[in-house]
Amino acid sequence: MNSLFITENAEDKAAYKKMMAQTVEAICNAFDSSAAYSGPEPYELKQKIHLDSILPENGLGWEKVLSLTEEKILPNMLRTPSSDYMPHLHGPAVLESLAAEAVISAYNQSMDSWDQSPAATEIELAVIRCLCDLYNFGQHSDGVFTSGGTQSNQTAILLARDWYCTEKLKVDIRKCGLPENFKKLRLYTSEISHFSIEKAAQMFGLGSDAVVKIPVDEKRRMSVPALRAHIEQDVSVGNLPFLVVGTVGTTDFGSIDPLEEIAGLCAQYGMWFHADAAYGSGVILSETYKARVSALELCDSITVDFHKLFLLPISCSAVLVKDSRDFDALTIHADYLNRVEDEEDGYTNLVDKSLQTTRRFDALKVWMSFLCRGKSGWSEIITKSMENASYLYQLLLQKRCFYVVTEPEISSVVFRFVSGSENDDEINRRIRRTLLHGYGIVIGQTVADGHVCLKFTLLNPLMTHEKLENLVSIIQDEGKKLA
Ligand SMILES: *Cc1c(COP(=O)(O)O)cnc(C)c1O
Repeated sequence: MNSLFITENAEDKAAYKKMMAQTVEAICNAFDSSAAYSGPEPYELKQKIHLDSILPENGLGWEKVLSLTEEKILPNMLRTPSSDYMPHLHGPAVLESLAAEAVISAYNQSMDSWDQSPAATEIELAVIRCLCDLYNFGQHSDGVFTSGGTQSNQTAILLARDWYCTEKLKVDIRKCGLPENFKKLRLYTSEISHFSIEKAAQMFGLGSDAVVKIPVDEKRRMSVPALRAHIEQDVSVGNLPFLVVGTVGTTDFGSIDPLEEIAGLCAQYGMWFHADAAYGSGVILSETYKARVSALELCDSITVDFHKLFLLPISCSAVLVKDSRDFDALTIHADYLNRVEDEEDGYTNLVDKSLQTTRRFDALKVWMSFLCRGKSGWSEIITKSMENASYLYQLLLQKRCFYVVTEPEISSVVFRFVSGSENDDEINRRIRRTLLHGYGIVIGQTVADGHVCLKFTLLNPLMTHEKLENLVSIIQDEGKKLA
């Protein structure tokens, strides 16, 4: 049998080193242009990557598999580090985090119990402590890494539901299930919040009817007067408002809900306040702009996504909770895993706080990249993205053929090409397709106020003003050709 694992054995080490070196070489060779995408449309791509069998009778061996990977896959991969790539909150991963991924996979620790990840558990605890301090969450706070913003939101909503039922309704929801009057529970979030909020309400037995969608103002922020009116109305008819989910960086616009005012309402009505900061959490590292998100300290829980503005590889996210006792809602003891006596002897079993069981050591990526670049390095990266967004906004405002939906608060700019014809929706759609297949430039598309819009999500600090100017003139030219 060929080498299976990295062991203390010299032959295994040599095999590992060779595979890794060849892989790194192949990746570097495939970065042969600055374009984000090589261009093929779906049907063409299916043909290019086709193999008759992926599970042959006898293995092809490493060299052959490497060359197939080089031939079929790497040239067609999206190059996320390209500054031509900007459709979603999905960006490139900084170099040191690629090294971290190598460590994570080589050791393959699982974060559920201390005996599966001794050092990794202690590192995750230290990183969580650092994050709680970063968001000024106080000494009773705690948190856990998750698979993404979706799971972070799910965790927070579940904890909020259980806290409300236990503390306010005096119902043991873990044992008895939802209280009899569960149809009266209400959670409030803006009409443009992430769909994972509504999905969580569906999953946790509350149903979409429990989700009250609050309108946004012209800056795409939750309207506080409307929120207050809905809560008061619900209270007056005997409904049970238990949670507000504010968004700190909406997925499309990057708008930030008015956290201070929402926190005031939550305190007044005895509700949990969760901040979905999957996008905006990174702003805390910008020395210039951190005040925009400093009110996160007023929330009961925060979703932090590291695979967005923080530029770390998927998956990497955390949920922070101001009162660590709220995590008790997720603890179930299993004889084979997280024994009660472990805890008493100082062995932390992180499964007690998590919706997952087997879980990656993603905290290492934060540990390595925070240490590598420090506050100043990270501030420069995040500030640069935000300044690029303001620059693009100003640039578009100066041109009569563009309409910009709202001024960016983080790093997304949503706009449309306007020719004045009835075909503008179709023209904007076609501009995006032309950029993708004709130029290898990947931008976003969404709908605002009923009209198709284009979107630049500027996460990549390598983006320059000159390049933005160039992109805007390409869009202008293509738009004019289509009009
Ligand atoms: C991306 C995003 C999410 C979902 O996060 P994933 O990491 O993709 O699961 C949730 N909320 C907001 C505001 C987001 O932008």
